[in-house]
Amino acid sequence: MTAGTIEQTRRLVTELPGPKSRELALRRKAAVSHAVSVGMEVYIDRAEGAILVDVDGNQLIDLGSGIAVASVGHADPRVVAAVTEQVARFTHTCFMVTPYQGYVELCEKLAELTPGTHEKRSALFNSGAEAVENAVKIARAHTGRTAVIAFDHAYHGRTNLTMALTAKVMPYKAGFGPFAPEIYRVPMAYPYRWPTGPENCADEAFAEFTSRVHVQVGEENVAAVLVEPIQGEGGFIVPAAGFLARVAQWCRDFGIVFIADEIQTGFCRTGDWFACDREGIVPDVITTAKALGGGMPIAAVTGRAEIMDAPVVGGLGGTYGGNPVSCAAALAAIETMTQGGLVDRARRIGTEIDHRLRELSAQFPQIGDIRGRGAMMAMELVRPDGSKTPDAVLTKAILAGCARRGLVALGCGTYGNVIRLLPPLVIEFSLLAEALDILAESVAEATA
Ligand SMILES: *Cc1c(COP(=O)(O)O)cnc(C)c1O
Repeated sequence: MTAGTIEQTRRLVTELPGPKSRELALRRKAAVSHAVSVGMEVYIDRAEGAILVDVDGNQLIDLGSGIAVASVGHADPRVVAAVTEQVARFTHTCFMVTPYQGYVELCEKLAELTPGTHEKRSALFNSGAEAVENAVKIARAHTGRTAVIAFDHAYHGRTNLTMALTAKVMPYKAGFGPFAPEIYRVPMAYPYRWPTGPENCADEAFAEFTSRVHVQVGEENVAAVLVEPIQGEGGFIVPAAGFLARVAQWCRDFGIVFIADEIQTGFCRTGDWFACDREGIVPDVITTAKALGGGMPIAAVTGRAEIMDAPVVGGLGGTYGGNPVSCAAALAAIETMTQGGLVDRARRIGTEIDHRLRELSAQFPQIGDIRGRGAMMAMELVRPDGSKTPDAVLTKAILAGCARRGLVALGCGTYGNVIRLLPPLVIEFSLLAEALDILAESVAEATA
């Protein structure tokens, strides 16, 4: 398949899901563990830009990007060419056995693009969870301490250590314990739900944070503070302005490693290369994945050289970490982000979405909050009585309306009441406008 063959328009030729998808759904139920859930049971045959084509020939608008992965768009020509070329050259040697240039080159790029001008090193892995696990290993090796501080509403993955770091039990942790020890949870500066109001949120959340750590953990025992600069799965919660910078400074005061989990926010998504850039925060260590690989699985831990070099030689690695095909894809994706001006595009997408969501929220009191940054925007749905009671049922109904109309959108949030929009950053603005019309129709229908 060559680039430019899928017209960037929505087109429904059957009801959704269509007959071929329904047939595959039956096969899935018989063959795939029911513990792996499916958001919208439409089976995809191919994709390009911001359009997914299903097995029945329907063309859907993608506002999920496979959870913030396809930021450069599906089948980005640079990524396709780089992957194709690399597959034909070699697919695997294991970097720890016989290395290759792509791995080194990607680590150089990560040093250049991530916040801060200090000397940096990186290590590459396969998934976000694996990157987070390794960031914690590195922080512990560097500090000789064990405790890790994580936040309410945090999501860091599904492996044993990252389940412990993740806040929400259903569905991520239910029945899967015992969990890794030495994880301590503190409140997030969540403006919309801060008990004394958003204006007090940053100050009070920071006071609560320092007091809890001091009393319950002891600063001298803390290896790392781990935080998503904008929380993803937890509901696109943007911490109150100034909160993160104060936490980062506090970490410096106590020799604690400040780890920014930018797996969802990183690589242009928020209208900056990294979400930390906006407030001038320089994390000691940053984890990236998702958009990094342009659709191929790859993850990275990047940090201060002295921290990254602290574990024993041979202490980090893995058979597939920094796979050559994934490295080629990542280098190509980064090239598209740079050449395509995707930082700027993410900002324009954000302005467009924000404008439309604000119009909608003026009409529908069920939209309690609109938040996010750049092309990472969300709305939180509540009962229309001023109580801010989360409405997960309404959220599901709106998402079902979108799905029926051929729009892929995702839910999230601790209370299951947030709709998040994560379009590919290359989406055409007319297609984005159509997607937002469909969202508006679905809100109107579900609230009627
Ligand atoms: C998705 C995500 C992870 C986990 O990444 P996987 O590749 O699914 O393991 C970790 N942290 C954040 C912030 C994420 O959004």
